[in-house]
Amino acid sequence: MILPVVAYGSPILKKEGDEIDEKYKDLDKLIENMFETMYEANGVGLAAPQIDKSIRLFIVDASPFAEVEEGEEPDPMAAGLENFKKVFINPIIEEEEGEEWAFAEGCLSIPTIREDVFRKPNIKISYFDENWEFHEEEYNGYAARIIQHEYDHVDGVLFTDHLSPLKKRLLKKKLTNISKGDVEVKYRMKFPAKKKGKR
Ligand SMILES: [Zn+2]
Repeated sequence: MILPVVAYGSPILKKEGDEIDEKYKDLDKLIENMFETMYEANGVGLAAPQIDKSIRLFIVDASPFAEVEEGEEPDPMAAGLENFKKVFINPIIEEEEGEEWAFAEGCLSIPTIREDVFRKPNIKISYFDENWEFHEEEYNGYAARIIQHEYDHVDGVLFTDHLSPLKKRLLKKKLTNISKGDVEVKYRMKFPAKKKGKR
């Protein structure tokens, strides 16, 4: 089932998610719905707060990054992403290292906006997968970047929170419009400031 993605301005996106345990109801179904929702929206990551659940869970599928156009060289930053489809439950980023690099991030909750965000390139993360197996893994390149972005979501942080005050001021009107639903978007969304009767 495709779930509506909550838009910028929704309080749940600013809230720290709760840890869950194995008793969490219908987790398999939720994860399945999240993948369906993410694929429908052409996203490479989706965090539970974005579908209105304030829990520490996010999913990624970075295989689109690994696609190589004919005649193009494979991108070394995307190495190994062909099968990078994962579920992260109760994740903890244990370490972040290296010199910060800029990458233009986007977000399904903030459609049409892409901005450079600086983050460290190497991370170590611990988490449980969908079978409640514990993992501790290291990532770099785009994989780390996607994880860092989604991890922020379960902490109540958006990529726009990392932008300079000036940049934020320049985006203010656009962000307000997004929260009102004044934005062109091809997937189902839920807008916090949408006026009734308007679509
Ligand atoms: Zn996002």
